Amino acid sequence: MDFELWWLLPIPALFFAMGWIAARIDIKHLLRESRALPLSYFRGLNFLLNEQPDKAIESFIEVVKVDPQTIDLHFALGNLFRRQGEIDRAIRMHQNLLDRPDLPADKRQTAVFELAQDFHRAGLLDRAEELFSRLDGGPFEVQALGFLLQIYEQEKDWQKAIATTKRMEALAKRPYFKEIAHYYCELAQNALLRSQFDDARQFIEQALAEYKLCARAAMLLGDVESQRGDHTAAIAAWQRIESQNPAFLGLVADRLADAYRKIGDVAQGIRVLRSYEDQYPSLDSLTALFNQILAHEGAESATQLIKDELARNPTLLGLDKLLEAQLMAAPADRRHDLELVKGLVGQHIKRLGMYRCENCGFRAKQYYWRCPGCGKWETYSPRRTESPDGFA
Ligand SMILES: [Zn+2]
Repeated sequence: MDFELWWLLPIPALFFAMGWIAARIDIKHLLRESRALPLSYFRGLNFLLNEQPDKAIESFIEVVKVDPQTIDLHFALGNLFRRQGEIDRAIRMHQNLLDRPDLPADKRQTAVFELAQDFHRAGLLDRAEELFSRLDGGPFEVQALGFLLQIYEQEKDWQKAIATTKRMEALAKRPYFKEIAHYYCELAQNALLRSQFDDARQFIEQALAEYKLCARAAMLLGDVESQRGDHTAAIAAWQRIESQNPAFLGLVADRLADAYRKIGDVAQGIRVLRSYEDQYPSLDSLTALFNQILAHEGAESATQLIKDELARNPTLLGLDKLLEAQLMAAPADRRHDLELVKGLVGQHIKRLGMYRCENCGFRAKQYYWRCPGCGKWETYSPRRTESPDGFA
């Protein structure tokens, strides 16, 4: 055989040598890279890990001074500035990046998104809106639409809010019919304030087309009819709420009682409210019913109503109403004692009977369609809670 085996002997040694050289090159490369990162960078990271963002910022500024090419570090620093509330510095940082002619396209998008957030945070809504709008079709589109929506809600620009939400619906594949219906209701409310009844009706129809169980739309329709002086139509609109979500009937109980009084049928009004209170008990309908009965049937009937209610649902708020009715009918010598007891109960119930947001727990005396605490729509239960703060 011509081929001699001894030729194979140095091959393992050769592979070993090649591996050794490759490893040397790798280690040298790594060493060079880590030497290229200034010490301030690691110091900055350390401060960040120890949750000392002020000191982290100082260290990173050092790095940026030494090596102005570190784009990602500029972003990190800008973000830190914004989080620390140093909006001016964040804006300058991101603006500087955008002014660089060599900034790659993807980084430019990031810089626009970051700068838009800086302006939003600084309350410069016009500039923020302009920049967020520039992100259409890019990787930040959905997030930018979310910010735009916040801006339009803040500015009460409901038409733009509707258009934005519809785009979000298409992109995020999530339904927003409730929000859209409320935007139309806001528009209807504004039209109603200007007595533009036809416009108001149109917006209400659009709200119901989006969300047919929108009790607010039915309430507004009743308000439109009531302002036009058609109380029978107003009653019909408000009664529609029973088929949508009867829990909301309490919110129109006073309006219903008033409309029945205006068409001269107080007795029917009391019958309707009584049937609602039987089927869907709520503090608001009970109060409306109590006031109607007290005014038209007298203190004795009102007392009986509350006694029945207390037997079914014993609450301090019910007791307060009972005392109020008894006080009306009480002879002069008992009045003093009753007033004393009512005063005591009154002190305890001051913080009861609030509406409560089911999303964030924010409580308010007034019913809100949009929670002032968390900004979500229709998160308030239409029933007042009878438990004090801190209890469910
Ligand atoms: Zn809330």
